[in-house]
Amino acid sequence: MKTSILTSFKVRRIFTFSETREAGTYKPCIHEGRRTAIVICPLCQSKLVLNPHLVGADGEVSPSVVCRPPCAFHEFIILVGWESLNLVKGKDNES
Ligand SMILES: [Zn+2]
Repeated sequence: MKTSILTSFKVRRIFTFSETREAGTYKPCIHEGRRTAIVICPLCQSKLVLNPHLVGADGEVSPSVVCRPPCAFHEFIILVGWESLNLVKGKDNES
């Protein structure tokens, strides 16, 4: 039987915004008409589109992000600065 020590406390790996696709960073993108992000795996530097993940207004991503095998990356992540990027984009629609 699988045992888990996960509780309501979740450790989140921090991803920062970058245009240059460094490991452990993200860049906003539109995927199938939805605003999401591309993240770069901090372990193997694979490019991962957050789909069907949801990115909260505060940058919190759910569910957890899993990289492609054989990479073992599987963590909850948070996109630092997502909220301010959102506000910049959102101004286009304000009257
Ligand atoms: Zn990986």
